[in-house]
Amino acid sequence: MKAEILSIGSELTSGKNLDTNSQWLSQQLASLGIATGWHTTIADDLEMNLQAFSQALGRAGLVIVSGGLGPTLDDLTREVLASVSGCPLEFHTLSWEKIQEMFARRNRPCPERNRTQAFFPLGAVPIPNASGTAPGIWMHISGRYLAALPGVPREMKAMFTTWVRPKLLELGLAQGVILERKLNTFGLGESAIEEMLLDLTQRGREPEVGITASDAVISLRIMARGETETAANERIAPVEKVIRERLGKLVYGTGDDGMEEVVLRLLGEKKQTLAVAESVTGGNLAALLTRVPGASDHFLGSIVSYTNGVKQESLGISPLLLQEKGACSEEVTLAMAHSARKVMKADFGLATTGVAGPGDLSPGLPAGKVFSALAWADGEKVESIHWFGSRVEVQTRTARLALNMLRLKLLEAN
Ligand code: ATP
Ligand code: MG
Repeated sequence: MKAEILSIGSELTSGKNLDTNSQWLSQQLASLGIATGWHTTIADDLEMNLQAFSQALGRAGLVIVSGGLGPTLDDLTREVLASVSGCPLEFHTLSWEKIQEMFARRNRPCPERNRTQAFFPLGAVPIPNASGTAPGIWMHISGRYLAALPGVPREMKAMFTTWVRPKLLELGLAQGVILERKLNTFGLGESAIEEMLLDLTQRGREPEVGITASDAVISLRIMARGETETAANERIAPVEKVIRERLGKLVYGTGDDGMEEVVLRLLGEKKQTLAVAESVTGGNLAALLTRVPGASDHFLGSIVSYTNGVKQESLGISPLLLQEKGACSEEVTLAMAHSARKVMKADFGLATTGVAGPGDLSPGLPAGKVFSALAWADGEKVESIHWFGSRVEVQTRTARLALNMLRLKLLEAN
């Protein structure tokens, strides 16, 4: 059985708001082992709704609707359901009482218009809404199950969790669980990673392995279905092991792990401190690191030395070096890393320079060309890379590149 999710609202189809309800609902259904086959977003228009509802009920075993249950004229879900099911709307006294109570609790007069929210297609079951006025609607239409929920994400989520989810379990519609394990890598491109895993990423394989790229982070998603969570995890584990063996240190974390969290954790394990000097990243490195609670235990600070003047005054970079090599060079970036380390008395110094773009600096320094350097008590390392991306992408990727250099160094010391 496949599910279809219908999201209703002209604010969604116009592009004004993003449909996040579908994302959340698909994840919830997956956790019940129900795969979603379609996401359909529909404007507040009767004809379009009738079409989309008929189509969904023709192809999906379970349809979850969000939106269009309000009391205003553009709220059409009730009417559409009555029409596609052939069940006329009937007044539900108990629901009307509940709606009135809701207004009374808020010390507001109950508008007559809200009466429309107490109408349900004949035979439908109201889904209680504890935090809003609109009750949801549960229906069984020619062998298909349908739940209509309000569009307001908070109400929709609460009603799905307390009513729809248990209902799906009770009906035996849940088919075990689908679990996902996400491994995050940094250092190689999407196709290079895929080439190392071609046997695993082939279509139709179980568990399924998908690749996604986001800001130079390539993530592998291993998805497996199982009767229980343990069973699904058991199917994921051997695939994860193979991927980790093949990719080694390219894998830096799992799930929502950020590179900055991993680096701070490693600094903590090794009881080391970090000082930063930033040019091209303009404070991005510091911003990433300070987002992590407890960062101050190991991250001492960052000097955003954007101009040559500040590089000289705050970091003591020699004017001669700046003139001879240019600010965007391996030599200056290394000098900045050493200087940050000394100025802040840290174990490690990390520095970035480069051309954020969009314009090129010179033929040898095109937009996206960056340098990152790491300095420690008895050594140093420098890397250069040419990113193809927007100004912001160049900055965030370079911050990750720098953090990754430190991560690899910290792992080496094992
Ligand atoms: P209800 O059925 O609760 O009356 P509605 O569609 O009539 O829902 P709207 O006023 O259109 O209510 O939307 C209420 C709020 O919920 C708006 O802020 C809207 O952007 C948000 N919302 C509606 N649908 C979605 C969705 N699919 N994803 C994210 N937000 C949504
Ligand atoms: Mg709406």
